Amino acid sequence: MRKYLFFIILSLFALTGCDSMQKYDTQFYDVFDTVSSLSVYAKNEEEAKQYQKAVHERLLELHRLCDPYNGYDGINNIKAINEAKGAELEISDDLHNMIEYGINAHKKTDGAINIALGATLEIWHRYRSEALEGKEAAIPTKEELESTRALDNISAVELTKNGVRITKSGTALDLGATAKGYAADEALKLLKEMGCDSALINLGGNVGCYSGSAHNKPWKVGVQDALDPDGLSDVIEISDGFVVSSGNYQRFYMYNGKKMHHIIDPETLMPAEGMSGTTVVCGSGADGDMLSTALFILPKEKGIKLAEEYGAQRIYLTDADGRLEKYPAVTEEN
Ligand code: AMP
Ligand code: MG
Repeated sequence: MRKYLFFIILSLFALTGCDSMQKYDTQFYDVFDTVSSLSVYAKNEEEAKQYQKAVHERLLELHRLCDPYNGYDGINNIKAINEAKGAELEISDDLHNMIEYGINAHKKTDGAINIALGATLEIWHRYRSEALEGKEAAIPTKEELESTRALDNISAVELTKNGVRITKSGTALDLGATAKGYAADEALKLLKEMGCDSALINLGGNVGCYSGSAHNKPWKVGVQDALDPDGLSDVIEISDGFVVSSGNYQRFYMYNGKKMHHIIDPETLMPAEGMSGTTVVCGSGADGDMLSTALFILPKEKGIKLAEEYGAQRIYLTDADGRLEKYPAVTEEN
């Protein structure tokens, strides 16, 4: 069973300004293997509960679709696709969108984001789980990792109009780098459709918010200090948008005094070196999620250029030694 990692990524607090509306907070522990929180403004508890229930159901749906480890009756999810042995499986629009996004991200990042990295990620997942279960910490051998390199092949992922087919035996999808951002987008879209005036969601470091008409004051989102996850590097005031973070403190185990974390550099097949935390402020949850992971892997200048292309408004990069660099003027007009 995957470990839940309790990290209070961000301290969140909303400034009220609307008399009839009240803020209702809740948490979910059963989606995306992380702790999620949701704040909604509503007239009363009954209305708030409707929002919370609808968001929870939508998140569960997306969680199940993206789950590479568990199967669910009647759902063609990532596990089913990975085990389809070359057969084409019909998939939902959500999965289609996410896989298409991932294929595109692979191109945009020169392969740093690779949703077909599943075979390699599975090896690291096994070593991490064993270490966290108390077995002696170890890392995969070079041979073990190299045995999956040829499988990490995005061209083996063939999207059709309504389905997907993995054409190479052993190639496996993993949407972990982008799924939470897509889910944050979808949760906020749903709340807006339902008429919720103002909301903030935090899916394990993927924070998305909008103020709508409930009040005109921004949300405050704390950027977690990568070297001291109890502290904050900054507090961002934001009314509408996303603040997305990736960190080597999110899922890791220690080996020989080194953090073996969950973001894998497809070139070395080892945990990406150079960064300990990345945060992106931008207008889309999916983009923020993809970019925060890509910034972790890509050479710094290349990552910043990519984030600029995606219209990121702000970037925070904490290197391995804890030096924090902010790029506040990336594209101020966005
Ligand atoms: P995030 O927490 O958004 O930075 O994403 C990390 C997750 O993405 C990991 O737990 C893996 O499931 C997955 N992942 C790790 N490395 C890569 C990579 N190079 N490309 C695509 N997905 C990755
Ligand atoms: Mg990500």
